[in-house]
Formats: sequence, C-alpha cells, structure tokens
Amino acid sequence: MKDNIDVLVFGSSNIDYITYVNELPKPGETVLAMHRERCFGGKGANQCVAASKLGANCALITKLGTDALGEDYLEYLKTLEINLDFVERVESMPTGLAEIIVSDNAENTIIVLPGANSMLRPKDVSRCKKLFKNAKVLMCQLETEQKAVLFALQQFKGISILNASPMPKNINVELITTPTILCINEMEAAQLTEREQVNTLQDAKAAANEIIDKGAKSVIITMGALGAVFLSSTERDVCIHCPAAPVRFLADTSGAGDAFLGSLAYHIAIFPNLHRESHISAANICAAYAVGHRGTQLSFPGPEYAQNDLC
Ligand code: ATP
Repeated sequence: MKDNIDVLVFGSSNIDYITYVNELPKPGETVLAMHRERCFGGKGANQCVAASKLGANCALITKLGTDALGEDYLEYLKTLEINLDFVERVESMPTGLAEIIVSDNAENTIIVLPGANSMLRPKDVSRCKKLFKNAKVLMCQLETEQKAVLFALQQFKGISILNASPMPKNINVELITTPTILCINEMEAAQLTEREQVNTLQDAKAAANEIIDKGAKSVIITMGALGAVFLSSTERDVCIHCPAAPVRFLADTSGAGDAFLGSLAYHIAIFPNLHRESHISAANICAAYAVGHRGTQLSFPGPEYAQNDLC
C-alpha cells in the first residue's frame, strides 16, 4: 500500500440493516416491510469507500468489534484498495449497527448504535502520526466521540472536512471553527442555526452566513435535489449555489451525503488549486449517481465518474 495518502478518514463503520417499506411508519404505527438487506455502512467507512471507488488513495482509521459482524466487515474491507493498517478490533464492544428504513418515495430514517465506534479516542490520532502527516485531505464525521474528532482536526495540517452528522445537541464550538470545510445537510443546518427549517436556497444562504458568523472557515450545506450551497469566510459576499445533477430514476437517497463527501474529498485532494465550486459540482454528479442506485456503498460510482477533466 502506498504511503502518499490522498484522503484519510477518521470515523465510524457500521453494519446497516436496511428495511424497505411503502411508507415510513408514524410514531406508534406498525407497517409491513417488503424486504430487508444487510450492508456495510457507517459514515466514516462510506465516505472512505466513496473516495476510494473514484480512485483516491485512501486510509481508514476505525474500530470494529471482535464479533462476527466485525470479522465480516474487515474481510470485506480487505477486498478494497484502502490502507487498513489502523483498523482496530475492540473486545469490549459490539460492531456498530444502523437500522435504516427506506420508503417508496426514497425517504429514510436512521438509528445508529455506535458500539465499537465509541472507542475511537484521541490516542488513536497519536498512534497514526505518519498518516496524519502525509495525507492531503482529512475527513471526519460525528458518529464517533466529539473529543477524538476535534483532536484529529487540530492535529491535521492539510485540508480538513468535518461532516457534522449526526449533529449533537450541544456541539463543541471548536468543531465548527477548526475544519477547513464544515459540511452539513439542511436539517443539520436548521439545528445548528436554531431555525425551524432550511428548505429553500434563501434559507440555506442565511444559515450559511450565520454559521460563518459562528466562526466556521467555510461551510457547505447539501440540499438534496437542490444541490448544495457554499460560503467561505474569505469571500463572504459570494454565497455560491451548485445545482444538483439530473437523476433519471430516484432509487434510494440513503448514502447520498456520503457519496457527496467522498467525491468532494477526492476532487479536493486531486485538484487542490481549483475553486471549491468545481469540487462541489463534481460531488453533486457522484451523489446524483448514488441516489439513482439502491444501497449505500453499492450505489457509489466508480472511476469513470471522477471528473478528471476539471482543470
Ligand atoms: P443522506 O443522509 O440521505 O445520505 P443527506 O441528507 O446527508 O443524505 P442530501 O442533502 O439529501 O444529503 O444529499 C446530498 C447530495 O446528494 C446533494 O447535495 C445532491 O448533490 C445529491 N442529491 C440528493 N438527492 C438528490 C436528488 N433527488 N437529485 C439529485 N441529486 C440529489
């Protein structure tokens, strides 16, 4: 495995149980499902696989249980071209799990049981010093301990991306101010800015401004079928909207955000000098491919979707 890492991911790995229903159940309601699948997921692993499938040289720092699910996950990861030197098995916790319900109209609800992911600690950053020194882009999420994620972001000197998802109730403000790019979806943007909703481009632009006021260096708000909005503290008067790419058949939106982030990290690592707008447009194209296909990691596009003619 090569030493020069394009994208280093510090984050979670979960086994996803995805149940397909006609309509999401309301509180107290019981619905019958059409079928259920078991997949490899977790925001950290998903984003790493998304960047790797496009052709990035990736490394994953994550924790799995010593249970059978952890064994399955590790065997699967070994089939991919990802540096797994710092994937650790922990005896005291089960492998992380996610229960995902997907409706006919491609809406989803997700419950995550972190398990072994909660054992990712600041000392795991210290033991991977060489990776942190050599990687071009670091990508983190919040399915693992906030303290460890913050330490990882503080230690990294390249371009760092924090996908602040799931958004904790009382997020440490340094998680907003430390990463080069804070990337969140519309619900997380609403939560962070204490708005009822962020549904329109106007809402997103106002929320992005407020997040920059809170001290973020730059922010991307993903807006589903509307694409994404970007604002940087260095160009405050230009809030950029990058429209979503067209989708012929909407199959399953789960993993759209992870496809977007993996692609964003790939394009930033490979074309660091291009404007963020180009990176985001390339990420929209990969995410649109993912929502047109079922599953999470299975729905991520291959190297033919890397926008290698960006420059
Ligand atoms: P999820 O949690 O379902 O993985 P998310 O809520 O984190 O997704 P979204 O904002 O829904 O993220 O979607 C991420 C990106 O995926 C969008 O910025 C867009 O590029 C793409 N996308 C999502 N839905 C659609 C759609 N219906 N048509 C085209 N692109 C889409």
